[in-house]
Amino acid sequence: MANYDALIIGAGAAGLVAAKELENYHLKVLVIDASDRVGGRLRTDKVDGFTLDHGFQVLLSAYPLAQKHLDFKALNLKPFKSGAFCFSGRDHFLVEDVNRNAAAYLRMAFSPVGNIWDKLKLAKLRKEVLSKSEEMIFNEPEISTLDYLKQRGFSDKIIKRFFKPFFGGIFLEDELKTSCRQFQFIFKMFALGEAMLPQDGIESIASHLKSQLKETQFRMNAQVKAVRKGEVEISDGEIITGKQIIIATDPTAIFPQLVQDISWNETHQYYFASPKNPFPKGYISLSFAEDALINNIAVLSDVSPKYAPKGQHLISVSIRNQKSKSDDQIENEIRRELIASGYEGARNWTFIRNFKIKKALPSISNNAYTRPFEESRIAEGIYIAGDLMLNPSLNAAMESGELAAKALILNHSN
Ligand SMILES: Cc1cc2nc3c(=O)[nH]c(=O)nc-3n(C[C@H](O)[C@H](O)[C@H](O)COP(=O)(O)OP(=O)(O)OC[C@H]3O[C@@H](n4cnc5c(N)ncnc54)[C@H](O)[C@@H]3O)c2cc1C
Repeated sequence: MANYDALIIGAGAAGLVAAKELENYHLKVLVIDASDRVGGRLRTDKVDGFTLDHGFQVLLSAYPLAQKHLDFKALNLKPFKSGAFCFSGRDHFLVEDVNRNAAAYLRMAFSPVGNIWDKLKLAKLRKEVLSKSEEMIFNEPEISTLDYLKQRGFSDKIIKRFFKPFFGGIFLEDELKTSCRQFQFIFKMFALGEAMLPQDGIESIASHLKSQLKETQFRMNAQVKAVRKGEVEISDGEIITGKQIIIATDPTAIFPQLVQDISWNETHQYYFASPKNPFPKGYISLSFAEDALINNIAVLSDVSPKYAPKGQHLISVSIRNQKSKSDDQIENEIRRELIASGYEGARNWTFIRNFKIKKALPSISNNAYTRPFEESRIAEGIYIAGDLMLNPSLNAAMESGELAAKALILNHSN
């Protein structure tokens, strides 16, 4: 007889939240993960006193599921300033959030980010998304973000100078092909809350979720090869049995019966150290030059000082996809681009490490905020979770974990 009530494959946010729900229901749970530690795409390395998240990633404090499952105080979250610093060559300006800083009204009225109609349209967009529930947003017709912005009459200028670099950096694609549902959801989350970094790195979100599990067992460094009713086969041939199973990851390789055509947006990020920060403190900096290599720059230690040792800044540079260039070429080009924009000091920044993440965000059509929990069931006693079930966000990962757990619990009690 199966030893476990539930096996969960994947110890990312989705798997950990599913485990939390099942544990609350007093089920005996084993979480299996191929990696050496929990977190999945929430991953951080500590290198010579620097905290290096794998890819630039933030927690949006307004995420409903984050508010439900995370203790923000315990995570010691540090906020970015709302808005952004935009630059192209020597042309630069701040985009400020006038709703948080009334003193910025006049500056924003004259800001070269777009024309006066763009600014009025931004205010209208903000009001509209705030008046809609998440369900309403995700029930709207799905067109690309770019088409949505054009339909709303935003000028090419503000699309190029702000929307493309800002949301391109969030969606990890430059053309804003991502669903307008996702755009409105993220826009609303920015309007309601802040972009935050946990003091000890993005992975601490996962450690924090794990710390809430008291009975759940973990089996790390175990690559699942196949999933069948009531059992999971590990790559060395070992069979682990469990009454029911949640697949909290891309199922393509381990459960091919489920035909899923998932494509992924990738990201490439470089870390540098410097004793000086040349960018406005606390803002995300966006490069809007059309042919730029750099997409965004974040001086993480300005937001969360523990990200760098004393006397140093940690600078994250995320670049646009550059498949044909070597890592060294890209590093040199980053420095060249910054020097050409007047950031002479970039010449002497110390390169720390770079991260290429091929499967960073699932590119999904029919994005949903949530779904009926029964839809998590993909076969008898087998359920699926993960951000790829709903929309590419941490909020969705946690929501999907809840849904799969609910479906499993219902079947357990029948
Ligand atoms: C660079 C980057 C930036 C991001 N920025 C943001 C952001 O700013 N805001 C936001 O909301 N979201 C962001 N995200 C997305 C967010 O991180 C994900 O939505 C979320 O972490 C996904 O969690 P998950 O549990 O669904 O999947 P994952 O985290 O991918 O977890 C899946 C787990 O399954 C394990 N696994 C896979 N295959 C097997 C197997 N065969 N056997 C055993 N184990 C297996 C993996 O090791 C992994 O631990 C970003 C992601 C990246 C990578």
